[in-house]
This record gives sequence, structure tokens and C-alpha cells, in this order.
Amino acid sequence: DRDVKYVCDLFLNQVSGGRTVISDQALLHEAVKRSGHRMRVVANPNDVVEEEVDRDIYPRPPPTKSQLKPRPPVVTVMGHVDHGKTTLLDALRNTKVVASEFGGITQHIGAFSVELKSGAKITFLDTPGHAAFTAMRERGANITDIVVLVVAADDGVMEQTVESIRMARQARVPILVAINKIDAPRANVEETKQMLVNNGIQVESLGGDVQAVPISALKRRNLDQLTEALVLQAELLEVGADPIGPVEAVVVESRLHPQRGRLCTIVVQRGTLKKGDVIVADTSLCRVRSIKDHDGKQLTEVKPGYPAEVEGWKDLPSAGEVVLQVDSEKTARNVIKARESKKQLAKQEEDAIAISSKEEQHDREYKEKLMHKRRMGRFRLRSQGPRGKEIIDDDDGTPRINLIIKADVDGTLEALLNTLDSYEEPDCVMDLVHYGVGAVTESDIEMAKSFNGIIYAFNSDCPPKCKDLADQNSVPIKHHNVIYKLVDDVKEEINDRLPPIS
Ligand code: GDP
Repeated sequence: DRDVKYVCDLFLNQVSGGRTVISDQALLHEAVKRSGHRMRVVANPNDVVEEEVDRDIYPRPPPTKSQLKPRPPVVTVMGHVDHGKTTLLDALRNTKVVASEFGGITQHIGAFSVELKSGAKITFLDTPGHAAFTAMRERGANITDIVVLVVAADDGVMEQTVESIRMARQARVPILVAINKIDAPRANVEETKQMLVNNGIQVESLGGDVQAVPISALKRRNLDQLTEALVLQAELLEVGADPIGPVEAVVVESRLHPQRGRLCTIVVQRGTLKKGDVIVADTSLCRVRSIKDHDGKQLTEVKPGYPAEVEGWKDLPSAGEVVLQVDSEKTARNVIKARESKKQLAKQEEDAIAISSKEEQHDREYKEKLMHKRRMGRFRLRSQGPRGKEIIDDDDGTPRINLIIKADVDGTLEALLNTLDSYEEPDCVMDLVHYGVGAVTESDIEMAKSFNGIIYAFNSDCPPKCKDLADQNSVPIKHHNVIYKLVDDVKEEINDRLPPIS
């Protein structure tokens, strides 16, 4: 069932260009049924070996429970501006059990992990909460396990606090509250808690299940309590990952360094990243040249749940992109090629839609103009031939002929309309009630009936049902396939309507 879900997810994510080999027939049929897509079934997977060269890669099916090993939780800090997110992250970043042997300058690389006195570890994303969260969500990568909602005790719940709550809820990420600035003179922890409850955050001390830790990021008070609460929460969530097999990770931040070139901070989600590995993010390739932590310390490997700054990118991927390991640079280039052509195809489709909608609009405007002209301007046809039939009077007494023209194609229709346009007859009004391309329809007949008009079908059919309707309503339908003959016919009709020469 897990595999079926995976296959369905693949389809739902519109990546059906990929090949999924399923040996179990029943599983396959179930997958196809649930995905609502059609699948090309090949008896022998070797039949499609060539397709595989150009195909994209996708994350593996999710790991089984037995493959999961504990990993540090990934935490995003969110909250209203000035409530102390940066101060808290700075304080946490410098919470070191052992001072770095490098004594190195702590750098901002987008994420860092801390080790607690208990030995437990936590990874914090320190890119601005909202932006990072949105970028990740847009690309479907949700790497945050827990959101720390920072609320200043002297300010309470504010606009961006509410926004943060909404975003975390939408992403189904549990919230842990840090009530900050408890050292501030106007701090009111209880009132802040009440405001949280009013906004749907059921804090523990008021009978709910959301932990709320009162802290001072500035004075570094209760930070241990906060981190321990995070560890507890992670245990409850059974945060885990599979450290074996090809690496899967997510880009948190990327930048260009004047000496070190293109750098990219990733958080590993699965597998273990090592130097020399080949990874792909979107259409960017990287043979991992070096891996460092936020202290600038060289790492030999990165396990799931940990961030690292990776060097060796040929291009810079964007935050939120999924990173996948491949076996060689050749495969990486194939994958990138497949993705680029998919993108190009999508772009072409987008362009085609844009162009056709523009054309449609142009066409519509042109036709409206033409219609207006033909309705308003009276078509004058030169009278010729015999006269003497009874006159159908217009309101002002002028004889009138009402036409409905149907043609097989646009070009003929235009030619017909232009020809009719060139005739003049002051004594008879020619009104083009309706025109169009295609077969005669019931609505054409209805229109002809109400306008007392004649239908001219040029190279276009009239289905028997319409023919019957026309007969019942005495609507004349005239078929032609030569333009001048149709025009002659119209002239004839006009002449029939003109008064006899006395
Ligand atoms: P951010 O916009 O949420 O990142 O907020 P900052 O971390 O930049 O903090 C905004 C202001 O609040 C700064 O002047 C901080 O010094 C101050 N601040 C942050 N935490 C505390 C705290 O625990 N107590 C007090 N009194 N001030 C704090």
C-alpha cells in the first residue's frame, strides 16, 4: 500500500514521465486505478531501457518504520517582527557545549545544529522564517518538524504572530511557543498566554497541549528549558530518517562566495552525504568538493537532520529545491537534460496558450467589428435581372433581405462577406443577421425563423434533424459551393423583393 501511495503521488505530482517498475500486477492495477492516469505497461522492463537514459529521477518510496533511525529535529523560528527571533537564534547558535577548536567565526549559512548538555541535537533554520517557509512550501519540501513561535511578553499576539500560526497550521507542523522578553518591564506572560488561547493556541498551563516556555533571549534565560522542550516534542513526534542509500536533501540557502565559488546550504533528509558524491538540485549539478558546518569546520559526512554548506556546484539552485544523489555525473547530466526539456516543453505549452488566447481575442474583436459594420451599414446590392415578386417591407417601407451565412472554413466566409459587401442596391436593405463557420445548426434555423431570413450554406452540411426543423418552420436553406453562384442567388432574392418596374 505504501508503494501504491508512492506511485499515486508520483502521478499526482505530474511526473508521469518517469518509469516505475512494479512487478506485482495487482499492485500495478491498483496504482493506476487510484492515480486516475493511464500507464504504459511493458512486459519486459528491458524494452524501455532507452527511455531510461533520458528520464528524470524522483525520491525513493518513503522508508519503512524499521529503516528509520532517530535524527535531530529541524526547527524553524517564526513570529512577529521585533519579538526577538534573531536574538534567540544568535543565543542558540552560540550555545556550545565545547568551544569550537577552530575558535572559528560563526557564520550565517542558513541553518545550524546545536548539541545540548544531554547530548541531544537540534537543527535550526535561521533564514527569515516566513520567506524560508514559503519557499519550501512552494516547492513541496516541508523540512520543518517543529515551529518555535516567538511572542514578546510585552507586546503579545500581533499580526505576524497570527500569520505564523496560520502558516504552521496549513503545513501541519506542530508549534512550540517561546514567550520572549520576560525580563522586559512591561512583560505579562499570563496575558500573552491568554491571547494565544484566543488565537487557537491551547497552551499547556491553560489546559491545552501546546508547550509554552517563558524565556529571555537577550539575557539567555530558560534557553535550556526551551531546547529540552523541543527534544521532548521531537521524541513525541518520533522524528526519524533512513541514513542508508542515495542522499535526499533540501536546499536552505545558496550564495556566491568570492573565493570559494558557489555555495549551497542543504539539510540532509535521507542517506549520508560524503565528499565526492554527485548530487542534483533542479537543473544544478554538484560533485561535492567540500562540506562544512556553520563554524567552518570540515565535515567528512552529513547524516539526516543535519545542515551543511556544500561546495562544488556548477550552478546555484534556489532555496526549497530538492537535492537528490545520482551515481555519476553522466546520470546527473541526463537528469538535468530531461528536466530542462520538460521545462522547455512546459514553457512552449504556456506560450502556445498565451498566443492562442491572444489570437482568439483578436479574432473576437475583429468579428465583433465586422458584425457591427454589417449590421449597421446597409448592404446595398445592385439590382439586376427580372423583377416583380411581392415585396417584404422594412419598417420604413424599404424592402429587406435577412441573411444567415454558414461556410465550411473561415477563409471562404471572409470571401463571401467581402463579395456581398461590394454590392449596392438603394431600394433593398440587406441585413446579415448571423454568420459563422460549420454546419447549419438548430439555432441558425431559430434565428432565421425569427428574422424571416434565408440560410445560405456554403460547402457546409445541414443535419437531417435541422433540415426537418427548417421544413417545419418554412425556413429556406440554400446550398452552394461556388461563390458567384451564391451571390447570384442572393441578387435573385433581392430582385424578387424589389417593386416591379412600372
Ligand atoms: P526579530 O525582528 O524578531 O528578529 O527581533 P530581534 O531579535 O531583532 O529583536 C528586536 C529587539 O528586541 C532587539 O532590540 C532585541 O535586543 C530585543 N530583544 C530580543 N529579545 C529580547 C529579550 O529577551 N528581552 C528584551 N528586553 N529585549 C529583547
